[in-house]
Amino acid sequence: MQPAPSFQVIDGQLIGARQVPSANYNQRPEHTEIQLLVVHNISLPPSQFGGEYIEQFFQNQLDWSLHPYFQSIEGMQVSTHLLILRTGEVLQFVNFNDRAWHAGRSSYLAKKECNDYSIGVELEGSDDLPFEEIQYTVLAQVTAVLQTHYRKILQHLAGHSDIAPNRKTDPGPFFNWVKFRTLLQQLKANK
Ligand SMILES: [Zn+2]
Repeated sequence: MQPAPSFQVIDGQLIGARQVPSANYNQRPEHTEIQLLVVHNISLPPSQFGGEYIEQFFQNQLDWSLHPYFQSIEGMQVSTHLLILRTGEVLQFVNFNDRAWHAGRSSYLAKKECNDYSIGVELEGSDDLPFEEIQYTVLAQVTAVLQTHYRKILQHLAGHSDIAPNRKTDPGPFFNWVKFRTLLQQLKANK
C-alpha cells in the first residue's frame, strides 16, 4: 500500500493529484461561487478498466478507430476536474477555478447549467460493477479537502444522474452513497 497522499488545494490545483491538462474548459460566469460537487463514473470502453483511454479522451487525443464504442463518442469534447482511477490515483484535468465540461444539460435545485458552479469528479468505473475501496477512501479525502476550501459544497453533493435524470445514469447503482458519506464524516471527526 502506498501512503495516502495529503491533498491540498492551492490556486485551484489539487496538490497530490497528477496534473493532466485538458483544453476542454472555459471560464465560469463572473461572480459564480463553487457550490456543488458532482460524482460521475466513466470507463472506456464501458466496464473495461486500466489503460489511458479516459485521459486521452479528456485531452482530445483518443484514437476513435481503436474500438467500436469510441465511434459513438467520436469528436465529443468533454472534461472533468478530477478523475479517480481504480488504483486510487487522482488526475486533475481542469483547474477548479475554471469551468470543466462534465455535466452537460443539467439542473440542481432548479439552478441550471451545473458546469457553471460545480466541481466534477469522475470515478473510473461503470454502472454494472462495484467501485474499489480505495476509490471511496480517496474520494472522501478529496471531498473533505474541497469542502474546507469551497464551503458551499458541504451541503451539496450529487450524482450526475441526480442533475440530469433523464439523460444520465452515473455514478450508477453500485455507487454506495452511504459508504461515501460515512467515510467523509469519519475523516472530519478525526480532524
Ligand atoms: Zn457523468
